[in-house]
Amino acid sequence: MKPFKGQFTQQEPIPKAAIDMAVNVLNSGRLHRYNTLANEISLTSELEVAYAHFQGARYCLACSSGGYAMSLAMRAAGIKPGDHVLTNGFTLAPVPGAIAAVHAKAILVEVTDGLTIDLDDLQEKAKQGARALLLSNMRGHLSDMTEITRICEEHDLILIEDCAHTMGAEWIGKKSGNFGLAGCFSTQTYKHMNSGEGGLLTSDDPEFMAKAILLSGSYMLFDRHAAAPDIEYFNEVKLEAPNMSGRMDNLRAAILLPQLEELYKNIIRWNNRYERIAQHLEQSSIVKYSSRPDQEFYVGSSIQFNIPTFSRENVLNFLKQTAGLGVELKWFGDDNPVGFTSKYSSWQYLEPQSLPKTDEILSTLFDMRIPLSFSIEDCEHIAQIITHCAQSIVMENA
Ligand SMILES: *Cc1c(COP(=O)(O)O)cnc(C)c1O
Repeated sequence: MKPFKGQFTQQEPIPKAAIDMAVNVLNSGRLHRYNTLANEISLTSELEVAYAHFQGARYCLACSSGGYAMSLAMRAAGIKPGDHVLTNGFTLAPVPGAIAAVHAKAILVEVTDGLTIDLDDLQEKAKQGARALLLSNMRGHLSDMTEITRICEEHDLILIEDCAHTMGAEWIGKKSGNFGLAGCFSTQTYKHMNSGEGGLLTSDDPEFMAKAILLSGSYMLFDRHAAAPDIEYFNEVKLEAPNMSGRMDNLRAAILLPQLEELYKNIIRWNNRYERIAQHLEQSSIVKYSSRPDQEFYVGSSIQFNIPTFSRENVLNFLKQTAGLGVELKWFGDDNPVGFTSKYSSWQYLEPQSLPKTDEILSTLFDMRIPLSFSIEDCEHIAQIITHCAQSIVMENA
């Protein structure tokens, strides 16, 4: 088998239009979002208007990161220290981190083999009096959002969606992020738009958004926000909301605005790559790839599969063989956190919790990023390496 030579962490270059816009901002010297000329709308505000439009939400706030957007959303929603916040047992570290940032208590919920939150466990744990559900659409997998909104209504849960991996995704034609009080997005390098760091918060609720804008550090310049509620909503709370600086700047907004125009085109490019790998994995009798629900329009920026028959030793061997052929897979079943990959048991600031079903799924779950810098042929090659290595380990076992 010929090794694969591509780099799994190599993103595409920033588009020329974005570089030009960024250079203009640098030349102007006006990088701060409130450093505007008379009647000038800052690029950060332009981005908020454009993203609200893309998302189909009334309001949008650009901020410093996706993790900041989540903790800001919880603060603006009135989550208090000690409140219980439900979230997925399988997610990335910024999610429990955002709950810790507001001194709330994270209650972890089991996940299904489709990698979405387990609705039965959610229902059970919701009964015990949580205030909110911070739903993580981890690795782009959308839950049955009709059921999620029903459960949230039944148990009076505030729904905040972590859409770091579902920017552009939809459930039955409705955009991920539009199902509850707020949607939280990340524009960090490894997400669907790349400004290095950055976050976007969307909502239709004027009181919530006025608070979020004030909390994000708007001083008394909130009237310069162009995707914001009416001034009256700010006047009610402007002296109560502390300034917790986490603004976006015009340089990042300049880098993002032209990328937003390319997002739909890039989603198609991601999905073409994803589908090529998925088609190949589906044919394997060893690899278990779960096909996606019909209600979901996903963005295939990463792919996951299980090899349920593998022992821990097989898993380690498989990771070694695939890595030897240049294919970088992540394994979330490891007891020790590595890089971006960590399991709930390593978030030791949480109260210890046990999720046997999630443990079982993660023990043989593999995860792979699909950068757009890979061609369709690259994806075919990678898929062949995966099934080849899986096959060879099964043969060694026999
Ligand atoms: C990246 C990520 C975030 C947060 O994004 P940052 O911008 O890095 O803070 C939140 N949730 C998930 C699942 C992520 O992968």
